[in-house]
Amino acid sequence: MSAVLSFPIQDEIISYNPATGEEFGRVANTSAEDVKAAVEKSRQAFEKWKETSFKQRAKFVMKAREVILDELDEIARLISDESGKPIAESLSMEIAPVLDLMQYFARNAAKILKPEKINIGLYATLGRTSKIIYKPLGTVGIIPAWNYPFSIPLGEVVMSLMAGNAVILKPSELTPFIGLKIGEIFEKVNLPTDVLQVVTGDGRTGAALVDSGIEKIMFTGSVATGKRIAESAAKHLTSVVLELGGKDPMIVFADANLELAAQGAIWGAFCNSGQSCSSVERLYVEEFIAEDFTKLIVEKTKRLNQDSGDKETTDVAAMSSERQIKIVEDHVESFRREGAKILTGGKRNENFRGAFYEPTVISNATNEMRGMREETFGPTLPIVTFKTEEEAIRLANDSDFGLTASVWTKDLSKGKRVAEKILAGTVCVNEVLYTHGIGQTPWGGFKQSGYGRTHGKYGLLELVAPQHIHVNHFLLTPNAWWMPYSSNAVETFRGFAKHFASGSLRQTAKLMPQLLKRIKELRSK
Ligand code: NDP
Repeated sequence: MSAVLSFPIQDEIISYNPATGEEFGRVANTSAEDVKAAVEKSRQAFEKWKETSFKQRAKFVMKAREVILDELDEIARLISDESGKPIAESLSMEIAPVLDLMQYFARNAAKILKPEKINIGLYATLGRTSKIIYKPLGTVGIIPAWNYPFSIPLGEVVMSLMAGNAVILKPSELTPFIGLKIGEIFEKVNLPTDVLQVVTGDGRTGAALVDSGIEKIMFTGSVATGKRIAESAAKHLTSVVLELGGKDPMIVFADANLELAAQGAIWGAFCNSGQSCSSVERLYVEEFIAEDFTKLIVEKTKRLNQDSGDKETTDVAAMSSERQIKIVEDHVESFRREGAKILTGGKRNENFRGAFYEPTVISNATNEMRGMREETFGPTLPIVTFKTEEEAIRLANDSDFGLTASVWTKDLSKGKRVAEKILAGTVCVNEVLYTHGIGQTPWGGFKQSGYGRTHGKYGLLELVAPQHIHVNHFLLTPNAWWMPYSSNAVETFRGFAKHFASGSLRQTAKLMPQLLKRIKELRSK
């Protein structure tokens, strides 16, 4: 059985329902010593798990999918209650995409990680072959944020398991019960003991996991914590994937379908109360449509239904925590101070006791304002105007972040041209935010948005070590580059540089007489 760890409670953490502020439950704050014990168990579990076939691993993953489908509404409600988000988004943005990811990697991991013959060019004429095989790493530590507390860690768990690794998951202290649910799902399908362990706790538990010398850390969170983790992991040469913050731009040209672009901007900025790393946090609109487009956005924003996440008709629900709402208040205040105009929202929603902030549209923003530079991670949509394509690209790239971006225009060649000039891990044309939901495509950022990739082939390759197997099939003579060296050897090596290294067979043929002389010399020694 996979373990949902029940460590002796030295300290507990309390999870709250952010919509009501009421206690949701308590879990262990796992100590560094207990993390060490979990790592020990994980290493033992890995020894057997790495020997399983892709087919065996896929069976567990597909069975886990069935458990999720059986408990669909219960899980959706758990996600909504502990993280605050609307039930609609628990289903559409967490459960549905991760179910798709699960079937994709269960069915395709073997194909992606198939041993691969390498073309070694002229070395093949020497009777050599090379191939790459992919080996699991060992223990993968997954440290996710609280904003997509089900889909992000579960996706990484599945990919790690399919690659043959053992996993330790440390969920955010704001959403530990959702993390424990992931452990429970695999427990129900009888995943072998300790192949997946869930250690609840706060940042200290995460720090202990990073400092435990495991083979890989998959981290999702803030830039500041990401840097701390990279530093600490470096002590053990543990490799790290860092999925960090974003300040994602959306560029709307005058020739866009403005109705669709407005709906896209609203969903991109306000879904999950703006707490998505790929939220639209900067909206750039071509100047001569800006007034009409802004009006459209404001009208639509005012029609959004803000209510608690458990109701099916809720569009925008609570934020995840008081801490997060304070950052939003602070950014909106600084927009006001710096001369931007709050067109709607701009305050807490006092109709609720919990952490509700009204969807907020801001005009007259500029790239110099603090709220345009730091990640807000809340339901705010600041609007800036531009005159030319070049200016739009410059404004979009004028950021420390580079996670995703979007370009809206009916002219697809312009859309693609602009997309390729934007420095971000994913750029969409006439689409926004949702590509984390496509498990087949790589996910990750440029600049301060982190490094490494999750999802797709490149994500899976983060979870394995490529091993090169090189075979010499030609066992008759010593290699020309072996010792002893001589003038004859040096002349041959000159020939290697001039002819063999050209990659051309015809050029290399010129080397043959000298090569034969050298081999004769070696065989006579
Ligand atoms: P944090 O950096 O505060 O925390 C992220 C995770 O790290 C949590 O599980 C946290 O635990 C843990 N942690 C905290 N301190 C340490 C430490 N010293 N060592 C190891 N682990 C630690 O981020 P948030 O949870 O506030 O998440 C919001 C951020 O995540 C935003 O910047 C957002 O953009 C980013 N994000 C990026 C995504 C991407 O794909 N690029 C996707 C989703 C979010 P605990 O919560 O218990 O303190």
